[in-house]
Amino acid sequence: MNSVDTIFAPAPDLDDRLADAATWEHGGRLWPSGEQQTLTCCRVIDETHDVRSFEFRTANGLPVRFEPGQFLTVSANVQGQSVERCYTISSAPTRPFLLSITVKRVPGGTVSNWLHDNMKPGGTLRAYGPSGVFTPSAAPATKSLYLSAGSGVTPLMSMTRAGIDLGLDRDIVFIHSARTPTDIVFREELAWLAKRSPRLRVFFVCEGVGDEAHWNGPTGRLTLHLLSQWAPDYLEREVFTCGPAGYMSAVRALLREGGHDPARYHQESFDIGAGVAPEPARPAAAEGIFTVKLSRSSKSFTMNASETLLSAAKKAGVVVASSCSQGVCGTCKTKVLEGTVDMKHNGGIRDREIQKGFHLLCCSRPTSDLVLEL
Ligand SMILES: Cc1cc2nc3c(=O)[nH]c(=O)nc-3n(C[C@H](O)[C@H](O)[C@H](O)COP(=O)(O)OP(=O)(O)OC[C@H]3O[C@@H](n4cnc5c(N)ncnc54)[C@H](O)[C@@H]3O)c2cc1C
Repeated sequence: MNSVDTIFAPAPDLDDRLADAATWEHGGRLWPSGEQQTLTCCRVIDETHDVRSFEFRTANGLPVRFEPGQFLTVSANVQGQSVERCYTISSAPTRPFLLSITVKRVPGGTVSNWLHDNMKPGGTLRAYGPSGVFTPSAAPATKSLYLSAGSGVTPLMSMTRAGIDLGLDRDIVFIHSARTPTDIVFREELAWLAKRSPRLRVFFVCEGVGDEAHWNGPTGRLTLHLLSQWAPDYLEREVFTCGPAGYMSAVRALLREGGHDPARYHQESFDIGAGVAPEPARPAAAEGIFTVKLSRSSKSFTMNASETLLSAAKKAGVVVASSCSQGVCGTCKTKVLEGTVDMKHNGGIRDREIQKGFHLLCCSRPTSDLVLEL
């Protein structure tokens, strides 16, 4: 099916169309997934008092291929040190020439403050990716419930923008929780989008009114009562949730109490470590010394089977892009050209990538000699 047929495909393929929109061909010139790029900032937008969107274009102006919900790993040079963090792409793949990230200033945080204080139009940033499996195509649905809190709005915003740009008219209930009304990220745009898309319904719930004494929305936290009022058919909906760890565990408990099927619940955590499964003890059989050859640099090193490939590569002086070290972010995704590895990831790689031979070095250990595409 060519890209024109795909765009005009019939309604049941809604989520495939989002994925297709992310992979449409543009004269064969795309930023291939998994590669590093230098992005140039072209606009900075104040979303709230402590949240800013940074819009970038690629250095060569090429369009970027990604799925809504995916993230970039950015590398900032802070006081001479290269520091990496993940940020969801808040813009939609349907507008592939500009990429936005929307960043909340975290008190004491290294990269969020660096971005807020230093990133201006004309500034540059190294980025890897896009990565991540928190995408609508991973769980196709015609009725969705988006639940977000704070900066967790970003992946759901990308999904919403993309759906509307494609004219999908999807049935979405989008409930966003914020501390106060002035903390609601994308407040005006979400309300504007909802006005134009009758099947997108947007609701806000704020813990307190803050400076906005005339706030007439509900205050407090999301409850089963509010949920049933806004999405009476929530049991039939595919749920996508993103927000702080405490918010997501409260949402999960709420949905469990209401009888929602956990298999239809999908979440993205911004807290690396939260929700990550502890690694099982390594069996004694995982001992042994293996040789790892790198196809691009012709380097090689030996390593113990109990070590991760990332840690052994770094010890051997090999420069590898990495961030979370827990199989979440996907930054260290690398193709294994020869040999076998034992990988225990936490969602940072898709089955179809594994089938193509890709592995995450941070959570893979060798079970034979290897050749890596590095
Ligand atoms: C997949 C993914 C997507 C994400 N998307 C977004 C997004 O769209 N928008 C967004 O805003 N964020 C997002 N994040 C979170 C983001 O990656 C960063 O974690 C966040 O911006 C904080 O980074 P930082 O460098 O500013 O803070 P850090 O330097 O990592 O610090 C975090 C906290 O730890 C404290 N701290 C730091 N050093 C110490 C120390 N030595 N001792 C004690 N405390 C310390 C800081 O005070 C701060 O409170 C995402 C994360 C992931 C994993």
